[in-house]
Parts: sequence; C-alpha cells; structure tokens
Amino acid sequence: MKIHLIRSSEVEPHQFTAIYDLIRQYPGPVQYIIHENPVEYSIDELEVEIWEEERIGREIMLSDEIMFSLCEEHSITYVGWDSIFDHCNESRRKYRIPDKEPVVLLTDHANEYNWFSGSDQSGKLNMFVHTGMWDRFTFPDFRYPVVYLLAAIPLRLSMYDSFSESVKNYHQEPRGCMNDYCQDKKDIQLKLRTGDICPECRKRIHDRNVDNHLVAQVFF
Ligand SMILES: [Zn+2]
Repeated sequence: MKIHLIRSSEVEPHQFTAIYDLIRQYPGPVQYIIHENPVEYSIDELEVEIWEEERIGREIMLSDEIMFSLCEEHSITYVGWDSIFDHCNESRRKYRIPDKEPVVLLTDHANEYNWFSGSDQSGKLNMFVHTGMWDRFTFPDFRYPVVYLLAAIPLRLSMYDSFSESVKNYHQEPRGCMNDYCQDKKDIQLKLRTGDICPECRKRIHDRNVDNHLVAQVFF
C-alpha cells in the first residue's frame, strides 16, 4: 500500500521532512510518499478565534501537571474539514493519485471539530493529522505522536472496510488502544504512551487475516 503525505504551508519543510525521515525508518508493506509542494489555504478558509488559557484547558488539553496563566490569551487558527478534504482531492488530481491510495494532509492549524486526526466520511481515502500543540499534551517532540497516528491509518483500513466504519468502531471509553476515540483530549496520553492494541482489536486483526508485517510496521 502507498500512502501519500502532503502538508499545508504553515507546516515547515523541515518538520515535514522530519516526520518522513522518522516514519520511513520502520520498513514494512506500507510505502510513504511525500509531495513537497504545500497546500495553501485561502483567507476565507481560515477562522481565527481568541481563546483564553481556561478555554484551551477545556477544549484542547489538559495535562494536569502543567499550570497555565488563566489570563493569557492565544490566537487559535482553525480550518474546516471540508476545506481539508477539498485540498486532499486537489492533490489527488494534481499528482494523479489513484482512489485506492490514501492521501494524508499534515496541518499545523487546529480543525473544526478539534480532532487529532480525522478522515473524509464521503468514502474517499482522505485524512488529516494535526501536527501542532503536542507540547500541550507533554509530548515535546511532535514527530512521535504524528508518526503514530500516521502509522495507524493502514492498520485501521485493514481492520475495517472504510474510514467511516473504522470511526464507528472507535472505543468510547479509553483502554490504551490504537482505536480509542479520546473524546477527552487528555486521553491521548494513555493511547500514545501504551502504544498498544486491545484484545478485541487483536481478535479482529486475526479474524481478518491482516498482514503480520503490517502489524509489525505499526507497533515497531
Ligand atoms: Zn481496541
């Protein structure tokens, strides 16, 4: 399987290369292909809101160990999911990427539903992964959570027939599994630090005869 990585322009080229250099250290059946030219959002596609730390605490994180000043304000730029997936489709056309090969947009902006990663529910194999704000979850090096979320994509697709079926089967209660939904954003810490898969998902992987080499590539 080939997975195509694209970036929006606020993701710096050196960050993009750093992600690619890390993920390709783990060989397996999935081949990652990067397309250097960045996606440019138009002004109309970007929404900006001023959030105080208290709201960031509520909506984005919170690591209990970190104290933030409640009066500090931050400008948060976010983009709609439709815009993200429109740009994925544009890149598909531009680079002649077949429908069966996933396209993943790496974006540093927040997104409409404030997810770490999301998938196009239209049935097309488009996704995004958020590259920003990981320091808020006590992950000082953004590469590791981003690469984990990227690596999970082909395994999820092997476990289910579509992205939408995969999303429907997310675990609502966190159990330290790749398929945890993480509605409470700080649950991402459990999911990423365990880097594991629960017995139910293991059974599904077994029952669907998912390639062992793919599993090994994800749980390197
Ligand atoms: Zn699971």
